[in-house]
Amino acid sequence: MTRAAATMTSDDNTTGSNVPEMFRSLPNRIRIWEVGPRDGLQNEATAVSTEIKLEFIDRLADAGLSVIEATSFVHPTWVPQLADADALFAALNQRAGVVYPVLVPNERGLQRALVVGASDVAVFASATETFARKNLNRTYDEQWAMFEPVVAQARAEGLTVRGYLSMCFGDPWEGSVAPARVVDAVQHLRDLGCGEISLGDTIGVGTPVQVAAVITEIAEAGVPIESLAIHCHDTYGQALANTVAAICAGVTTVDASAGGLGGCPYAHSATGNLATEDLVYALRGMGIDTGVDLDQLVATSTWMATHLGRPSPSRVVRALATSETP
Ligand code: MG
Repeated sequence: MTRAAATMTSDDNTTGSNVPEMFRSLPNRIRIWEVGPRDGLQNEATAVSTEIKLEFIDRLADAGLSVIEATSFVHPTWVPQLADADALFAALNQRAGVVYPVLVPNERGLQRALVVGASDVAVFASATETFARKNLNRTYDEQWAMFEPVVAQARAEGLTVRGYLSMCFGDPWEGSVAPARVVDAVQHLRDLGCGEISLGDTIGVGTPVQVAAVITEIAEAGVPIESLAIHCHDTYGQALANTVAAICAGVTTVDASAGGLGGCPYAHSATGNLATEDLVYALRGMGIDTGVDLDQLVATSTWMATHLGRPSPSRVVRALATSETP
């Protein structure tokens, strides 16, 4: 089995001419928004040093990733794993052609991001009432007032602003989430000035047709599909299927985490992010370019796993890292 995995990969697949209708309008390229250093590491039990994080980010750029979310300027008591955000960002080996977005929860976080010269920031909102209260200490309606000065100042400073939207496909306290509610939240974020909105399946309960339907409803409400990204978690093993469904619905920006690092600390039962390797493997087989060198990425995640003291949960990392040469 291992030998077969080593000698036969998605590189060798050919789709031929019998491609079903739903797959005929796939994009030539997908932009991967790598969240491993932020969303991944903030949800790992083992904290890693600033030096290891810097090397991780460097290796991700070496592997061809062009958007690498570097850290979060939340208060260190919330996310102690990223308490070194200021020092880390200041020490980044920034390269031409690579952007290094950071999370800013509030005005204080934005000030810290501005001090170190970040050019791309992200705020995080909730599509549901309960998660807004638990994660932001605001009601659903109050959260927009909290983000308004953050987004406005970031825009005034010339920064690009992404809006993360949690619980778009299900909420652990409220159950199902009405697509109309997701549309409403997306429009709030756009009205504030967010140029891109990442739709999060924060607890990983969504399924492919549902994900495609919600995206279609958002697009039909007048939101440009180019402004949407998808962010899936693999709690029920649906992350890759849901992501492919989102791509079939027209999304061309996908969030993923190298090696499948991270989960969600405030929503227990949530497991890791979609592994970047699993995504790249699938897209490569579908003839979609990502600019990523899969072998280099697998080597990076294997290296990071040694620092975290546990193997990567990514199937592709396991298949390629342990494979034998015939
Ligand atoms: Mg995530």
